Order: sequence, then C-alpha cells, then structure tokens
Amino acid sequence: MYNFEYRNPVKIIFGKGSIPKVADEIPENAKILMTYGGGSIKRTGVYDQVKNALKNFDLFEFGGIEPNPHYETCMKAVELIKNEKIDFLLAVGGGSVIDATKFIAAGALYPGKDPWDFFVQRYIIEPDKAIPFGAVLTLPATGSEMNGNAVITRISTQEKLAFGSPKVLPQFSILDPECVFTLPDRQVANGIVDAFVHVMEQYLTFPVNSPLQDRFAEGILLTLVEEGPKVIANRNDYEAAANFMWSATLALNGLIATGVPQDWGTHMIGHELTAYHGIDHARTLAIVLPGIMQIKRQSKKEKILQYGERIWGITEGTDDERIDKTIAKTVDFFESMGVPCTLPEYDVPVETIAKIKERFKERESKLGENKDIGYQEVEAILKSRL
Ligand code: NAP
Ligand code: FE
Repeated sequence: MYNFEYRNPVKIIFGKGSIPKVADEIPENAKILMTYGGGSIKRTGVYDQVKNALKNFDLFEFGGIEPNPHYETCMKAVELIKNEKIDFLLAVGGGSVIDATKFIAAGALYPGKDPWDFFVQRYIIEPDKAIPFGAVLTLPATGSEMNGNAVITRISTQEKLAFGSPKVLPQFSILDPECVFTLPDRQVANGIVDAFVHVMEQYLTFPVNSPLQDRFAEGILLTLVEEGPKVIANRNDYEAAANFMWSATLALNGLIATGVPQDWGTHMIGHELTAYHGIDHARTLAIVLPGIMQIKRQSKKEKILQYGERIWGITEGTDDERIDKTIAKTVDFFESMGVPCTLPEYDVPVETIAKIKERFKERESKLGENKDIGYQEVEAILKSRL
C-alpha cells in the first residue's frame, strides 16, 4: 500500500425529510447566496423546502447554472457575491451546481486576475481560501457533495477542466434519497454509470496489494449493480434510492483512494467528448472505459480478471477470453440502463478523435495510474470505440 494522508471533514446529513435541517447548519447572521440549476428544484419542491427552512435568513438567489457548468455563468455569480458581500453559499442541485459553487466560492476570494488560473495552472495555483458553503444534493452521481473537486466548462474555448482543493470541501451536505423519486431515467442511469466509473478509476489499477480497498470498491460496485436497476424500475423504492445515493457518495469521497494508484484516464478523455459535443458526462465515461480496458488489458490484466470474477462471476476460459467477457459484461450493464457505449451512437465524427489526440499532445499529458497513456494511446482508445 502507498503512504497516504486522509481527512474528510464534510458533515453528511442523510435521510428522508432531512432538507429542513439546513437551517441548523448555517450561521444565523450569514448573508447567503443559494445557487441552483435550470429550475428542476422548483418543480420538485426542493426549492420551497429550502426557502421555508431559511425564511429567517438573509437569502439571495442565483439560478441558471447549466449541466456541465459554464465558467461564464459562474463569473456572474462571483460578481454578485462581491457586490452584495455574500459570506455563505448554499448549492441546491446535482454535481453541476455543487461544482459551480466550489469554483464560485474560491473564485470570489481569488486575489489574482482570473480564477480560470485554477484550471490552466492546476497544481501551481491553488485557492488559499474560499467562501464557506453547504450543499443540498438532488442527484446521486458525482460525489461532489463529499469531495473537493470541481469540473468547469469554458464555452469560449471549448475546454472542460478540473481542479481540486481541500478549501472547497462543503461544510455539510444534505442527502435526502426522496430527491431520486423525481429524476428522469436518463439521469438515474447517468448517476449509476458515473459512480460506477469513479470506483473503477480507483480500483482497476495496478500494481498495489490493497485487499481492503478492493473489498470496499467491490462492495460499492456490487451495490450499484444490484440496486441501480431497482431504482430504474421503480423510482419510488426508497431503500433502493437510499442505497444508490450513499454508494455514489462513497464512490468518490477519498476513502477507496487511500493508498492505491488512481487512473482517471476515462474521465480526462471523457471530458474532451463533453467539451466538443456536449455529451452527458456519464455517457462519455461509458464510451471510454471499455476502450481503456481494451487497450490496457495487459497492464491491468490481474485487476480486470479479479473484477470480472468478483463482480460478474466470470471464471471460465483463458485469461484473454475472461478479459473479453468482462469488458462485454461491463458494456451490457451500461447498455441495460439505456446508455450507449460507442462513438457513432452519439454521432461523434472521426475527426473529433484527431482533435482530442492533438490536445493531449499539446498538453503533453500522460494519463493512467502508470502515466503510460499518452496521445497515441488516447487515439487508440477512442478508435476502439468506433
Ligand atoms: P447535473 O448536471 O448536476 O444535473 C443533470 C440534470 O438533472 C439537470 O438538468 C438537472 O436539472 C436535473 N436534476 C437534478 N436533480 C434533479 C431531481 N432531483 N429531479 C429532476 N431533475 C433533476 O448532473 P450530475 O451528473 O450530478 O453532474 C454532472 C457534472 O458533474 C458534470 O459537469 C461532471 O463533469 C461533473 N462531475 C464532477 C465530479 C466531482 O468530483 N466534482 C465527478 C464527476 C463528475 P436543473 O439544472 O434544473 O437542476
Ligand atoms: Fe465523474
């Protein structure tokens, strides 16, 4: 196992009817900005629940944060915060609203000229401070409610980039599984796939002997495989919704990353597909992951065989046959939830592969747990998904 440091201070308030507890978590004299997306919270009643709970607070609102949140939109919120002297943020929504709020929280206190620096100079420029914020999660998927990562899209340059900092960990996150009841099939499927791939990025890596983390990871994968279809079949199954929600949070709160190598190649390549074609985040992962398993089948062999056996019960055949069956099973699982896994199914033209290859070449990126996925491998991975 690798050496590691681990600290996750995010307070989780989980369960049916927990949204009104938001009032107990915010300082009484705070000047709050509530951030939200395109209006789903108004249709689902979450907006009213939050407004009622905070009726004695000084509350401002900023709506209109888009899925794959835009830098340009976030900067409008930064301006509002500066003008109104806001000192607490409350994100109400899915990963996009929470990610945007993290960037806004750090961007509003950034002394430099443009907080886009956090992305283009990642690891060199990091936020020293951020406005404290909490979250009311309405969509299990990203784990953003319990981590310090954010992914933001800059429309003017067609870039989708990530940054991470302990300064942008939420103070608290409220998780009411009843929020799942109003999700469309597409978002449930996306959430299951995103959480599943988060686990894979930290589990399907080599070489480290980490049986405990493996068992944690496999526990989350198996729960998603078992509970996910129940949520799709019956949106009002509270127990299934609750297990799905907690699985998605645990998939990316740092716990299963302790002491193990991490890949993240699927995410980095997937972000480019969203940047160029606006494809839902999770769907880009469903395209790329089978490609990485295919192209990295030698270096990840031991782990793919373990995953195939423990998650899908694949024990028969030669190693190569078992790897092929394991990749096919993974694709079947995504497709069973209505998520296609190849590029043509999203009308992505072949030329996009060359553009993405060029970007990774320019950035001199090396992806994967062994930093052995360069631009040529990126091309091979995408070509394998045609
Ligand atoms: P999302 O983009 O936040 O939301 C997707 C859609 O679902 C929106 O149209 C939203 O509507 C709607 N929605 C949300 N909650 C709903 C509910 N309870 N009922 C009905 N509709 C609801 O989806 P997401 O998958 O959570 O977030 C994706 C973003 O997170 C991507 O940008 C991705 O790159 C990023 N991400 C972040 C991390 C991380 O660690 N921070 C990890 C993976 C991915 P409204 O807009 O109207 O609210
Ligand atoms: Fe993700």
